[in-house]
Amino acid sequence: MSDAAIFPLRRDSLRRLLAEKSLAALLVTNEINVSYLTGFSGDSSYLVVSSDRELLITDGRYTQQLAEECPGLPLAVRQPGIQLVDYAAMAVSKLDFPSIGIEAEHVTIAFYEKLRSAAKGMQLAHTSSLVESLREIKDAGEIAMLRQAIGVAESAFIELRAGLALGQDEKRIADDLEYKLRRRGATCSAFSSIVGVGPRAALPHGRPTENARLGDFPLVLIDWGARYQGYHSDLTRVLVAGKLSPQIQSVYGVVLAAQKAAIDAIRPGAVMKDVDAAARRVIEQAGHGKQFNHSLGHGIGLEIHELPRLAPGQDCKLAPGMVVTVEPGIYLPGQFGVRIEDDVLVTEDGCDVLTSLPKQLEECIL
Ligand code: ZN
Ligand code: ZN
Repeated sequence: MSDAAIFPLRRDSLRRLLAEKSLAALLVTNEINVSYLTGFSGDSSYLVVSSDRELLITDGRYTQQLAEECPGLPLAVRQPGIQLVDYAAMAVSKLDFPSIGIEAEHVTIAFYEKLRSAAKGMQLAHTSSLVESLREIKDAGEIAMLRQAIGVAESAFIELRAGLALGQDEKRIADDLEYKLRRRGATCSAFSSIVGVGPRAALPHGRPTENARLGDFPLVLIDWGARYQGYHSDLTRVLVAGKLSPQIQSVYGVVLAAQKAAIDAIRPGAVMKDVDAAARRVIEQAGHGKQFNHSLGHGIGLEIHELPRLAPGQDCKLAPGMVVTVEPGIYLPGQFGVRIEDDVLVTEDGCDVLTSLPKQLEECIL
């Protein structure tokens, strides 16, 4: 977790955002947002923030942990036998705000109904991605965590690569990678690693199996990352385990050129859809437009996929402190797929590619 002094500052940033939106208070029910705003690493807890009040609604399992992680934060502690949604509805109703924002994407219908009947007279305002928009811009402590998450992922991959041998199946490789990530300091993988041999690399999110083996096809795609102190890295590399056809070499070159075009377009003020288009144009011009069937990239942080989104239709602009993946791909169903993914920090005057594993095709030969 970040330095404890940061969390009250984050709540103040949220207060400024609430004032801009003319909201009296916000009920934060997304647990990741609660952690971001408080430093609390547990779950099953909601946070209320208003201009002059804050309250963490939690339960008895966490009182000691909360005293350590969020000293001074006022608590409402529910007793055993009372459900969080019932208790939270009651605790919120006692606060007597004229209105309160709720995180529309993170409230169940059941909780909404309870809140509405407990807090009669309190207007419930639907909000979307308020805290998530603060999380888009990483502070120095968060960037340091992301660098660590990347460093762990890269060193685990280098060790994995040195031990790869023909005949190893996808699942064994993925399991090895998980173990190496943990040994090097990760809590766990950032997500279930993707290891796809040949045609299985054409599935952008294929699960590793025991019946596809390294060497069955001259190419394997590995998409992995580390979770480190709550922060996530996300990389993809293709490794070569045999003689590549001219077609595979050509597709690889197109994906690499598309990725470079996108990275060259990343700077403060760049419109997100334009960064996506920079990569998409290269792939379309090579005749593979339909085979790049996902968006270019996403933010990484406390979640593996978070704002911003580098995708068609995204009109927002990049700003310093954002950290995004850049991951163009070309997928030929039944044949093979190529994706190359790096993590990029937007800086004051351009960008900094935080990942550093080699990606020229000749450097990827096993
Ligand atoms: Zn990935
Ligand atoms: Zn990704």
